[in-house]
Amino acid sequence: MTDLLVHDGKIHSRNPADGSPLGPIPVSTPEDVRAAVVRARAAAPDWAALTFKQRGAILAQVRDRLFARADDIAGILHREIGKPKVEAYLSEVVANLDLFDYHIANDEKILAPEVIKLSPLNYPKKKGVVEHVPLGVIGLISPWNFPVAIPLRSIVPALMAGNTVVFKPSEYSSHCGHAIAGLFEGLLPKGVLETIYGAGETGAALTASDVDRLVFTGSVATGKRVAVAGAERLIPVSVELGGKDPAIVLEDADLDRAANGVVWGAFFNAGQNCGAVERVYVVRQVAEPFLAKVMEKANRVRLSDGVEGEVGPLINEKQVEIVDRQVRDAVEQGAKVMLGGNRKGRLYFEPTVLTGVTHGMSVMRDETFGPVLPIQVVQSAEEAIQLSNDSAYGLTASVWTKDINKGKAIAARLHCGVATINNHSFTGALPQAPWTGVKETGSGVTNSRSALFEMTRPRFTLVDGAKDKLEAWWFPYTPTLLAMVPRILQMAARGLGTKLAAVPKLLPLLGKRMKEG
Ligand code: NDP
Repeated sequence: MTDLLVHDGKIHSRNPADGSPLGPIPVSTPEDVRAAVVRARAAAPDWAALTFKQRGAILAQVRDRLFARADDIAGILHREIGKPKVEAYLSEVVANLDLFDYHIANDEKILAPEVIKLSPLNYPKKKGVVEHVPLGVIGLISPWNFPVAIPLRSIVPALMAGNTVVFKPSEYSSHCGHAIAGLFEGLLPKGVLETIYGAGETGAALTASDVDRLVFTGSVATGKRVAVAGAERLIPVSVELGGKDPAIVLEDADLDRAANGVVWGAFFNAGQNCGAVERVYVVRQVAEPFLAKVMEKANRVRLSDGVEGEVGPLINEKQVEIVDRQVRDAVEQGAKVMLGGNRKGRLYFEPTVLTGVTHGMSVMRDETFGPVLPIQVVQSAEEAIQLSNDSAYGLTASVWTKDINKGKAIAARLHCGVATINNHSFTGALPQAPWTGVKETGSGVTNSRSALFEMTRPRFTLVDGAKDKLEAWWFPYTPTLLAMVPRILQMAARGLGTKLAAVPKLLPLLGKRMKEG
């Protein structure tokens, strides 16, 4: 598949809607990758030496460029990925303006040094401080499904924290990657953000290079290879590898809201969303009216030409084939196509609603990067929880109910990184909220203070103001030190009275001990 896109040392991007060429972009060779990492490494100390305010002032100019170039960026997203323009504006431009604002306003506070309180009795005159220092160079490999939003969610906190970044966009979104590079161009010192282009060979060269953390979003198979490459170099790796998000609709749900929510959650971005609604469990009591409402809403969803309609093309032939195969497999096993179910035109797939699905079907177990909404009727919330959790993935999950306490109790039992009650997965757009998962989704965190801590390491510095020749626990080990041990243990006992009773016996021994150095 990639061969059609990448040949003659160039990436030949095409508009997925009509196949028109977007112009070639040269592939970065392994040598180019190494050189980019060397430049990023050389730039790292000076960039880290700037204050948060200085780095923030530069990123504020980048933010203003994003604002000013909103139309260009939305246009590129539409041409290269096939996104409806409204989705391009809302999820990739507006959400990222918030992202810049959040990090510029908060990162200095979040990463401020922490003074550690030490017991003056056990550790007299000692002061400890934890600083959150940059890791150095971040190697970032990003996907094509949110090709502006996902990379920026790593680039902005990485840079604010004082790292430099080598960024490889997906070969399917190279022009979007180029547009990101353009936002920073001329504003950052040389080497602070390096952009490299290419597919597997370029990505593998980056994972084997001299970077200090790898951040990867994509498939489980490639994510594992990236993790192994990180393990070889003993560097930390953050991976986000997709999901199979359940939506649980309970008997007391607002059925109109739930139906609108799951239809949007399943078909948004043509379903090419790691946090898409990929399976619905509706309890038997409301299954019929809920399905009627889903059909009413889903019937109104149109294929999009970018301006009109909601569902754009899929990214490539391989993805269309996977979606088609999953739907055919479900039908062969007895599922009923209530809507859609077919390929359309070049790379479109019709918005599809399936019923009569069962837990063993691929469409209920494997990630579906397409506009498919399979609905399974369950007997109870318990059954929905059990089926939801019986998955290789665990990214987001939603519960639809008017009883918020019940919703929260169910959410707490779901194996996922993000749970939403009466909404689904939009929280990826919130810079304050961690986006993360469990199991094969991977444990990388984007957004929030947790993401910032992934871009830094704690460095502890202790300053000892003591002037004594000796610490009590240093050499030589003498009978006096041994005699102190029962009193030291007594000081660690529970109960203030017991502790205090040890002090008068300990102090003379300590005085004697300090003269033994
Ligand atoms: P992949 O994870 O297969 O590939 C992502 C990128 O990594 C590609 O550029 C790929 O190149 C490259 N790569 C391949 N091998 C290595 C390696 N050893 N080291 C570093 N980089 C490497 O994603 P796809 O885009 O092909 O999508 C496949 C599936 O992944 C989708 O169907 C979907 O299920 C899931 N996905 C999940 C996303 C999410 O948000 N979590 C986003 C996108 C996809 P090459 O193409 O040459 O293999």
